[in-house]
Order: sequence, then C-alpha cells, then structure tokens
Amino acid sequence: MAGEIKALLLRESEGKVKAAIEAVAESDLPPGDVTVAVEYSTLNYKDGMILNGLGRLVRKYPHVPGVDFAGTVEASQSPEWQPGDPVVLTGWRVGEVQWGGYAAKARVKASQLVRLPQGLTAKRAMAIGTAGFTAMLAVMALEDHGLTPAHGEVLVTGAAGGLGSVAVAILARLGYTVSAATGRPEQHDYLRGLGASGFVARGDLAKPPSRPLDAERWAGAIDGVGSTTLATVLTQMKYGGAVAACGLAGGNDLPTSVIPFLLRGVSLLGIDSVMCPVERRRIAWQRLAEQLPLEKLDALTEVVPLAALLDLGRRILDGAVRGRVVVDVRA
Ligand code: NDP
Repeated sequence: MAGEIKALLLRESEGKVKAAIEAVAESDLPPGDVTVAVEYSTLNYKDGMILNGLGRLVRKYPHVPGVDFAGTVEASQSPEWQPGDPVVLTGWRVGEVQWGGYAAKARVKASQLVRLPQGLTAKRAMAIGTAGFTAMLAVMALEDHGLTPAHGEVLVTGAAGGLGSVAVAILARLGYTVSAATGRPEQHDYLRGLGASGFVARGDLAKPPSRPLDAERWAGAIDGVGSTTLATVLTQMKYGGAVAACGLAGGNDLPTSVIPFLLRGVSLLGIDSVMCPVERRRIAWQRLAEQLPLEKLDALTEVVPLAALLDLGRRILDGAVRGRVVVDVRA
C-alpha cells in the first residue's frame, strides 16, 4: 500500500522478542533529516543479539533492527546530501536505539552518513559492513602504533567470522604474514584463499593462560573473541607488539595479568566502530575501496533475503556463519 514499506519488525510480548516481516507505515520512521532508500543491509554479531532480544540493546518495541545499511538518498533536508547520492551507514546505535537497516527505507541524521567511495557498490559496501569496517579500523590502529609487515607475523582470532575474514584479507593484501585462529578447521582452505598462511586452533588460545608470558610469536593481533583467548594472545606478543581488541565472541571478560604490558611493552588498543568520528570513517571506507581485494570480498559473501534473518539471527550467535551475510532488503 502507498506510504507503507517492507520491514523486519521485532515485537516484544511477555518478555519474549519475536521477529516477522511486516508492512510498516513510512510515517513511523524515526525523525531525521535524510531518508535513504535502503538497498542492502547485513547480519552482524550484534544484529544476532538484537534479533534474539539479548543484551538489552533495544529498549523500545516494536523495533526495526539492522545496525548498518547502504543505499541511495531519497529525500534530504540537509545541504550535505542530495537525492541520488550513494551512502553507507554503520553504527551510531542505529538499529539499536532507533530503527535501522532491515527495512526498505531508513531515516537518519545527515551527519551519520558517509558517501560511498568510487568503485564501491551498495552491495559490496554491505559485504564489508560494520564487521569489515571495524577490521579496517583495527588495521589502522595497528599501523598508528607503528606496525609494518617487517615486524613479523600478525594473528587474527575468530578468523572465519565476518570481522576476522575481512581482517585476514586486508592484512594479506598489505603484505603481512597472517595467521588465522579458528575453531573450524574445515575453513582453512577458505582462509588460505583470503591470504592466511598459518593456523592456530581456537581451543589452544581459549584455554586460560598457564603463565604470565609465553614464547614471543606475534608482532600484532586483531582479536574478535576477547576473554581467555585475548588473555592468551597477550602472553604470546612480541616485545612492543600491539593487539587491537575488537570483539567478545568468546566472552566480555579479560582474565589477564599486567605482566605482558610491564615486561614486554605490549599495547592493547581498543577499537570502537559505533561512535568513530566521521573523518576516520571516511578514511577507512576509502581504504576499504582501494585495499580490499573485491574478488576475495565476493568469495566471503552470501546474499540472503530479509526473511532469511529469522533463522540466521540465531546461527551467527552459535558461531555457525562464515564470512559476511549481505541482506537484500528488497528481496
Ligand atoms: P561473527 O560471528 O561473524 O564472527 C565471530 C567469530 O568468532 C566466529 O566466526 C568464530 O570464528 C569465533 N567464535 C565464535 N564463538 C566463539 C567462542 N565461543 N569462542 C571463541 N571464538 C568464537 O561476528 P562478527 O565478525 O560480526 O563480529 C566479531 C566480534 O566483533 C563480535 O564479538 C562483535 O560483537 C564484535 N564487533 C565489534 C565491533 C566494534 O565496534 N568493536 C564492530 C563489529 C563487531 P571461528 O569459527 O573462525 O573460530
């Protein structure tokens, strides 16, 4: 019907959150100065939590999830954007505290959008999505710390997941020797295809560290897992190395000691994609357009219709999703 758009809507009843595909009134979109015709969104770990009503990330229902999207500006009250502009949005708690990308249209603040760099389609931007964007922020943080390929091997944990897959592909493209930590040995060929040359079993890192320092192995690391995995990685860092802490797929605790920091000068770099300043966002998207091999990106991407999220939202929490899931909101 006119004035209605297709959306994945979450409703809460008796403490349980249920998802369904519904037609919602366009007038129910949140306030904002730019309306975007959404083409693609994605499935991130955080979307999985929201789809299952976990983590108290959403406080108000009914709710349209989707923490990122790409599409075309349809209407704008801001001089910054004109109808037809290709844009991408990640973070800013869109999809959590306000309606997000799992709908045919989204309304947001002009300052929250980034212009899609030349050469990047909406579909590929979402193949990157929040997870891939965060992977680039992690690479940039390690570079700011002074890391170069000459310093030695870099470890990526949760490697077969979205963030991990993109991190492996970017690091390999930049000339780093990359080791991938994964709990899915059947994904070794896939990770080798992205550029990983060494492998570590997830379980070897997930055990709590038995001593404050282990043999020096990694010049840098990108961690999507947290908890005992991050604690173990810290004990294996080379002198002066840095770990970019991005995720908590294994837990949000960090049972470590200060010894790696004090005796090896190891640095722990926090990575936040949600409130990342806009100028750094522009740099990261430009670099993704230039430095992420697009054929590798395509290989790690699965495109699904909106309705597929009803099942995939659970599977990503079980660590059963490989690479990136792009959601065609129009399908
Ligand atoms: P995915 O689910 O795609 O990837 C997570 C990967 O972690 C899995 O594929 C699996 O990799 C591994 N894993 C899953 N469960 C466990 C476990 N219990 N113990 C150890 N490893 C596990 O998620 P994303 O790539 O979207 O996100 C990864 C993490 O980064 C999440 O925690 C997410 O919340 C966080 N994140 C943070 C952002 C930020 O701004 N800081 C932005 C985006 C994501 P494998 O099978 O290879 O072992």
